[in-house]
Amino acid sequence: MKIEHIGIAVKSLNLSDDLFKKLFGKENYKHESIEREGVTTSFYKIGESKIELLEATNPESPISKFLEKKGEGIHHIAFGVSDIKSEIERLKNAGFAFISEEPKDGADNKLVVFLHPKSTNGVLIELCQEK
Ligand code: ZN
Repeated sequence: MKIEHIGIAVKSLNLSDDLFKKLFGKENYKHESIEREGVTTSFYKIGESKIELLEATNPESPISKFLEKKGEGIHHIAFGVSDIKSEIERLKNAGFAFISEEPKDGADNKLVVFLHPKSTNGVLIELCQEK
């Protein structure tokens, strides 16, 4: 496992893309909307890891709710795994709770699943596997 990416919730991808392009001195390598999840994402490659900016596409989006409660900032940490199903089994057996136990199509050509932050000290953790 490695840290595949860190997700940051932002109010405006336009404004935040300007900011992060300046910060990193490089362009994002993709914009991608996942309508089912109510998010538009922007990805930056930083060495072996990535930064994923997340903007809500509607008021029911989990990102809208996060912004209301906590404001802009780090939303989740994603760990890359080679076999997401066996990791889910391993972590379930170790007592971790999941938001949903079934891997779904996520951004950037990944299968993704989220652990519930109540079982991980308030940190939303994503597991992702390259498709
Ligand atoms: Zn993510």
